[in-house]
Amino acid sequence: MLWRIGNGKSTEIWKDKWLPIPTTYKPQESVRFLHESTKVSFLIDECTSQWKRDLVTSIFTKKEAESILKIPISPLSKPDSLFWRCTSSGQFTVTSAYHLLNELEDQARGQSSNSRTHQAPWTSLWNLNLPNATKTFLWRACLNALPTQANLKVRKVVEDSACPICLHPSETIEHTMWECPSARDVWSLSSRKFHKASTLSPSFAKKLESLVASKETEELLLFAVTAWYLWKRRNEVVLQGHLTHPSSAVSQSQQLVEDLQKLPVSKKVMALKQQTSPPWEAPPQGKFKVNWDASVDEVSCKVGVGAVLRDWNSKVLATLRMEQDLFPDPHMAEAFAAL
Ligand SMILES: [Zn+2]
Repeated sequence: MLWRIGNGKSTEIWKDKWLPIPTTYKPQESVRFLHESTKVSFLIDECTSQWKRDLVTSIFTKKEAESILKIPISPLSKPDSLFWRCTSSGQFTVTSAYHLLNELEDQARGQSSNSRTHQAPWTSLWNLNLPNATKTFLWRACLNALPTQANLKVRKVVEDSACPICLHPSETIEHTMWECPSARDVWSLSSRKFHKASTLSPSFAKKLESLVASKETEELLLFAVTAWYLWKRRNEVVLQGHLTHPSSAVSQSQQLVEDLQKLPVSKKVMALKQQTSPPWEAPPQGKFKVNWDASVDEVSCKVGVGAVLRDWNSKVLATLRMEQDLFPDPHMAEAFAAL
């Protein structure tokens, strides 16, 4: 749990976790000439709701000071609040805790995140017409982040890592996907190519990578969708104690692939690439429109803001130009300009 700074009155500078700097989230290297229980509010100018920049830069290291000055201060003097750092909502979820655990274990092993290694297939997969749930499943399978019995045993959630279907001693993602006899039944009915290839059993990520590289979209879709149905089928055994017939998984997969192929090819990436600023258009009758822009001056640590207000006849009614002492971050500058 981390502190989200509101007015800084509940958070202690040295003891609490409040800096957006992993992995300690506390000031580390600075000279502690302030009292050890000094609150963060000491660093905030109450009148302007801004950080006391000179004070912050004189107390903390450059990296820490930059991170602190980027934290936006609420002009409403809200109290500080605790939040869970692993979800965007700040609410605790079991899934996010599971990902955090993976992250910490990777750090402990000194490994970089697997996500970079598999960036290439992931980018291609993202452009396929697949349900988001299928894409998420594939991503988690590539990162070995699915709750297979083997993974749950590593995390000490269960004691027995055996496959819930065939009782093989270790249920890995590869076991669920093609080593398990129940999975082989499905592949053998699905596609001769996959049935043969599945006996090679490389890692799931490697298998997906080679399919993406082959550029055979139909094969790739069929593999992705069948794998997803296999996982759902395996979960039904765990949750409901019921194993569906292989032909039902196969016909569902084939039907979904057929339906997906009827959809138009995703134009999302092309649209993004072709995006240019549209010409300015007047607002509808009776409405006003504000356009604004911001610039940053990294040397003097200032942000410049310009805004223009026009009516439905394109007539300029007001303009604004100002500068402000603010950490020179482009996103923050745009947000400040909007405010
Ligand atoms: Zn099995």
